[in-house]
Amino acid sequence: MKLTQFPRVKLCHAPTPLEPMPRLSAHLGGPQLWIKRDDCTGLASGGNKTRKLEFLMGEAVAQGADHVVTQGAVQSNHVRQTIAAAARLGMKCTGLLEHRLTEPEDEYLNNGNVFLDRLMGGELDYRPGGTNMQEAIEERAAQLRAQGHKPYVIPGGGSNPTGALGYVNCAMELVSQANDQGLRIDHVVHGTGSTGTQAGLVVGFEGTNSQIPVLGISVRMPREKQEQLVYRLVQSTAAKLGLKDGVVREAVRVNSDYVGPGYGMPTEQMIEAVQLTAQYEGIFLDPVYTGKAMAGLIGLVRQGHFKADENVVFVHTGGSAGLFGYTHAFHVS
Ligand SMILES: *Cc1c(COP(=O)(O)O)cnc(C)c1O
Repeated sequence: MKLTQFPRVKLCHAPTPLEPMPRLSAHLGGPQLWIKRDDCTGLASGGNKTRKLEFLMGEAVAQGADHVVTQGAVQSNHVRQTIAAAARLGMKCTGLLEHRLTEPEDEYLNNGNVFLDRLMGGELDYRPGGTNMQEAIEERAAQLRAQGHKPYVIPGGGSNPTGALGYVNCAMELVSQANDQGLRIDHVVHGTGSTGTQAGLVVGFEGTNSQIPVLGISVRMPREKQEQLVYRLVQSTAAKLGLKDGVVREAVRVNSDYVGPGYGMPTEQMIEAVQLTAQYEGIFLDPVYTGKAMAGLIGLVRQGHFKADENVVFVHTGGSAGLFGYTHAFHVS
């Protein structure tokens, strides 16, 4: 797979560390848990979107764009990282934020990612829940074009074949780290939302013939639906890379048992997962994605889903800034 054929800008601190989680593993009494620290990608408090943005912003630069337009939920990590990438490259950035919670707390509206977005001078614009956000960013881009600007539109979560290349690259990085460390990776587990992370990982492991199974823990959609969405992006990403044999549908596996009442809505298992990871490993997860993903991993360990001698890598996709939009949900005194 030749990633060098695509335009790219350097934004990530990579390779991100691949580390064991010995105390959490011992506490759970299950397999050996490892963590891929993509919360440490380095740009404006890090996270998975930075890997995607290396390729997306590379394309924006190649097209001569001067203004990036994207969208997400109010506490979007993606919008935060996109504003930061635009700042680094001297472009303007508009983030359209969708109100997905019905009765949000003040800290949800103003702290966490939103505070950081404002600090970086991002132009924020809000839309009611249920808005067609993809249309909304296209409309905004059309307005900018009419005013003589050169906008570059990034879909929610940066999830298209260009963005997914960032996780193809992460898969290659993981395979090489595992080889260096003499580590046999039996499973990779992570949170899946807009699908680019999982699609990129699946294509990357397939393309390197690594046979490492990936399990996405859904934060929004039911299993069937999420698997279909991921698989669609797997196919277009594999095509972009010219993977001759394609990827089989069975390579895309999602568990949707940890969504709870809905996207961005706290669950007891999420709170436990965030607290256990903080207390046993000194690592901060986030309330919307990695907390639920880790809740899924912990749940599966407790159900005996993994063998004791297996190595399971949890991809920490970032987002801890979001904790400050959700302190009300945690029982800490
Ligand atoms: C966006 C995001 C995810 C989900 O990744 P997708 O590529 O959108 O599926 C997971 N974790 C965090 C912290 C995120 O911000």
